[in-house]
Amino acid sequence: MPVLQPMPLADYTSRIFQAAGTPKMTADLVGQSLVSANLAGHDSHGVIRIMQYLRQIDADEIRPLARPEVERETAVMALLNGHRCFGQLAAKTAIETGISKARGDAVAAIGLKHSGHVGRLGEWVELAAEEGLIALAYANGGRSGGLVAPFGGAERRMGTNPVAAAIPLQDRPSLLLDFATSAVAEGKVRVAMNGGKPIPEGLVLDKHGRPTRNPADLYDDGMLLPAAGHKGYSLALLTDLLGGVLTGAGGPTLPGTILGNGVLFVLLNIEAFRSLAEFFADGTIMADRIKSTRPAPGFNEVLLPGEPEARSAQTRQQNGIPLDNTTWEQIVEAAESLGVTGIA
Ligand code: NAD
Repeated sequence: MPVLQPMPLADYTSRIFQAAGTPKMTADLVGQSLVSANLAGHDSHGVIRIMQYLRQIDADEIRPLARPEVERETAVMALLNGHRCFGQLAAKTAIETGISKARGDAVAAIGLKHSGHVGRLGEWVELAAEEGLIALAYANGGRSGGLVAPFGGAERRMGTNPVAAAIPLQDRPSLLLDFATSAVAEGKVRVAMNGGKPIPEGLVLDKHGRPTRNPADLYDDGMLLPAAGHKGYSLALLTDLLGGVLTGAGGPTLPGTILGNGVLFVLLNIEAFRSLAEFFADGTIMADRIKSTRPAPGFNEVLLPGEPEARSAQTRQQNGIPLDNTTWEQIVEAAESLGVTGIA
């Protein structure tokens, strides 16, 4: 199993996208973003996505030269049209717009439509938390048709529709919620398939609606189940309505939707509610109290959401990023077909 160092891997990824016609600044951003997902331990949203993005460039679903544009704007909101640009460029622009608006006022809501896949949604809300703001994100996705069955259904209707929230804490990583509203992110099934491993029960139904542990069944007209039954299903619908219908991005139930994400970011300026010092003081008491919980049998400790990602990033920065052989071979093959030579 190859183990890659983060900086050369990000540079290699950037050179692949540059060879596919992407300006260096955008390609660098996409490379860094994908590698940061691997660092955070979410390999499903890391460099494994290179092949998908290259296919989408070929299909004119991602336009490497496109840039997001503000279509509507007030002091506290904006609607950005990505014009099918890379999702990483669109999401970074959207959250930066939100940060500047929420700083000026108490709140900001930024909608994003017609952009490519934004990758690890948590990356973008974390940027706001690093600036002392709270950020929530609702990203609907997928192309027309969907991949996830509604609760009680045995047909594809929804995307994996992730939700994310980042809340700054003092002397700790930001509290970070960041997960698909399906029982598992689609990319994790792909990682299992590439690694030749079965998936746990309760995640996927085959095309006949029967439970399966074979990851390949998902790609043979199977479907993902929603997370936590009717609760994940309801959150997925909320996300479709906020990220897709409110923004005009579309969604799996709407015709003509191209693979990508529609996103609604909501930002809150803590200092409009109370001083940052007061917020941090109570936040620390709360976090300490949660962390002090006696572990249940089978657990070593209680983690705060965001701790797994922060720990993974620390370990992988030091030890490198392990990739399965299939993913690495596919990346090298894609790079060579574009004339990109080996990793530095
Ligand atoms: P997951 O099931 O791995 O859950 C991750 C979340 O759970 C994080 O907030 C993490 O800190 C928290 N967590 C994990 N273990 C914990 C523990 N023991 N205690 C407390 N908190 C814990 O996530 P997922 O559903 O597999 O999603 C993975 C990634 O895929 C996310 O980054 C998501 O944004 C991304 N995604 C993106 C899209 C898209 O269309 N762009 C679609 C689906 C998923």
